[in-house]
Formats: sequence, structure tokens, C-alpha cells
Amino acid sequence: MKIVFASTNRGKLREASEIFEGFEIVPISAFSAWKSPDENGSTFLQNAVIKAEAAAKAAPDSIVLADDSGLVVPALDGAPGIFSARFSKEGTDAANREKLIAELSGKSDRSAYFVCAAVLIFPDKTVLAAEGRCCGRIIESCRGNNGFGYDPLFVPDGFDKTLAELSENEKNAISHRGRAFRKLLTFKGSSL
Ligand code: IMP
Repeated sequence: MKIVFASTNRGKLREASEIFEGFEIVPISAFSAWKSPDENGSTFLQNAVIKAEAAAKAAPDSIVLADDSGLVVPALDGAPGIFSARFSKEGTDAANREKLIAELSGKSDRSAYFVCAAVLIFPDKTVLAAEGRCCGRIIESCRGNNGFGYDPLFVPDGFDKTLAELSENEKNAISHRGRAFRKLLTFKGSSL
């Protein structure tokens, strides 16, 4: 069975293929009618719904999946939150991480958590939504080469390694995205 994923983020696409094992994850970029929407919601869930609805318009006969995710840091009043991808001016993973290191410098509370809001829309317009979280702390400099985004700075609770030092399977087992996507798969009444 195919699931069309409303993302062009290669890290997310790889993780989705792993988590939705046995499904074919097709990037939304394969549909010429796809137009990336304005993510102007004020919550992760609102932005995930915006992306999923845009994908459902571009691929109306497909099951579509969207997620909106990010890092919440209580010592920074919840930043970068829904603005995680555009935290720094440059908006690259490396510049976002540098900004996070600088903003947390000298702060004693380094706790943080990732949030993923995930939405599936079926061709009959049924909508399923789920949220997953992964709690941990931000370290002072990057470690590891796997994953993407803030992974090299994030040590999940109960681990000594960063998410970027874990294998993809190990990350998916505990990650916000793994948790949210698996909830979608196990919903009663889901036709997946
Ligand atoms: P989105 O594509 O609008 O959901 O933005 C997600 C942004 O949050 C990414 O660009 C990363 O900066 C960050 N992010 C989300 N999930 C992860 C993750 O699993 N690891 C590291 N960073 C993540």
C-alpha cells in the first residue's frame, strides 16, 4: 500500500519509510499539483493539518501523511517550537544548532523535548491525528553524524548518546515521530 508523505525533508522521508514498514512512502514532490502551503498555524497540529490538506488536494486518490515537528526548550520559553526549521536567519540545520548552543549558554536548565504532530487523510476524507513526544536534554556541542536537525545536540532521557549517535532503528523506537506514526498505525478503525 502507498502512503504519500507531505515532506521533502530527506531525514523525515527516510524515517517514515522505516516506521511505516511494509508501505511504500511516496514523496509529495512526485505530484505536479503539489504546492507547499504557508505553515501559518500556531500549533504543531494546526500546521500538520495544513500540510495534510494541501497534500490531499494534490493527491486526492491517495492516503496522505503529514507531520509537523520541532524542539521545545522550556528555558527558552518554548522556542524554537513551531519555528524549529527557521530558528536561525539562515534556516540551515547547522545554523539552527549554533543558535541553540548560543542561546542556552550559561543556562542551568537544559531540558528539552521534541514534539511531532502527525495527520493522515484517506481518500474518503477520514482524518486521523496523533502526537508523539521525546524528552531529553541539550548538550553543549554536537556529537554524531546520523539523523538530521537538532539530533547531534539532543540526548534522550535514559541514554548517554545523542539521537545522532543512535542507529535509525534505535532513534525511531523512542522518537517523537516514531511514537506519533505508530499511534496512527494502531488506531482502531484505521483502514491501514
Ligand atoms: P517541519 O518540517 O516544519 O516539521 O520542521 C521540523 C524541524 O524541526 C526540522 O527542520 C528540525 O529542525 C526540527 N526537527 C524535527 N524533528 C526532528 C528530529 O527528529 N530530529 C532533529 N530535529 C528535528
